[in-house]
Amino acid sequence: MKGKLYVVATPIGNLDDITLRAINVLKNVDIIIAEDTRHSLKLLNHLEISKPLISYHRHNEEEKSDSILEKIENGKNIALISDAGTPVISDPGEIIVKKALERNIEVIPIPGACAIITALMGAGVKTKKFSFYGFLSINKKIRNKELEEIQKNNNTIILYEAPHKILNTLKDLGKYVGERNIVLARELTKLHEEFIRGNIKEIQEKVNNPKGEYVIIIDGTEEKIEEENDLNNLSLEEHYEYYEKQGLEKKEIIKKIAKDRGVSKNEIYQKFI
Ligand code: SAM
Repeated sequence: MKGKLYVVATPIGNLDDITLRAINVLKNVDIIIAEDTRHSLKLLNHLEISKPLISYHRHNEEEKSDSILEKIENGKNIALISDAGTPVISDPGEIIVKKALERNIEVIPIPGACAIITALMGAGVKTKKFSFYGFLSINKKIRNKELEEIQKNNNTIILYEAPHKILNTLKDLGKYVGERNIVLARELTKLHEEFIRGNIKEIQEKVNNPKGEYVIIIDGTEEKIEEENDLNNLSLEEHYEYYEKQGLEKKEIIKKIAKDRGVSKNEIYQKFI
């Protein structure tokens, strides 16, 4: 009988942040595949789990996937873990999961710590819609394209960044994020966990000697737009007052109300006679 591929989230700092289900899966699989086997051994020793380990990282993902999947087809249950957090998210796993599904191998996600979600939980930003960009590209052309896309994106934006590159990334973001509220979530779940808040300039002043791991969050601007869409829930008089307070002329106000409500200017005009 075929085995299964378990994709198991492990802690992002605090070793207690692992689920009972994840521990049970790691105890019961035949093999664990891990990015840096020496690094993962520390966690496995802490959990008193001893299993054969296979190294699986971004440079050998393509080449190792097939031989690992063959072992699953021959009946082995295998768990994929990364150095920290949720595999597949800015970590190896995308290729093996896709190939497993192509071979009709069952893939079972075992959820747990993930830096994106942990950062959002404590950031105090808009969470209705968010976009994750992972690490910005180091290729200048692609990076500029990503930054331009971020500038136009009203959602809350989440980025990962390495400590030695964070100052440079903040500098680049400075040209694109205007006055948007930024939160740096640093060393999540660890002793020196910290949330640094402010606009990009304030953040740059606060971070001069970056140490540890960082998630960058750029707060969304979407609610403002939604608020404006909500104008249609106002009475016509209230809708009129909203634009009047902005100092607009009657003609301009009628034009705007008609546009908001998707009706003709004449229809609105008649109501105000
Ligand atoms: N797959 C992992 C996840 O989503 O949980 C992330 C792996 S990615 C290679 C590593 C990046 O995640 C770091 O550079 C940092 O941006 C973020 N990260 C991971 N652990 C973190 C922590 N404890 N505090 C803040 N950021 C963290």
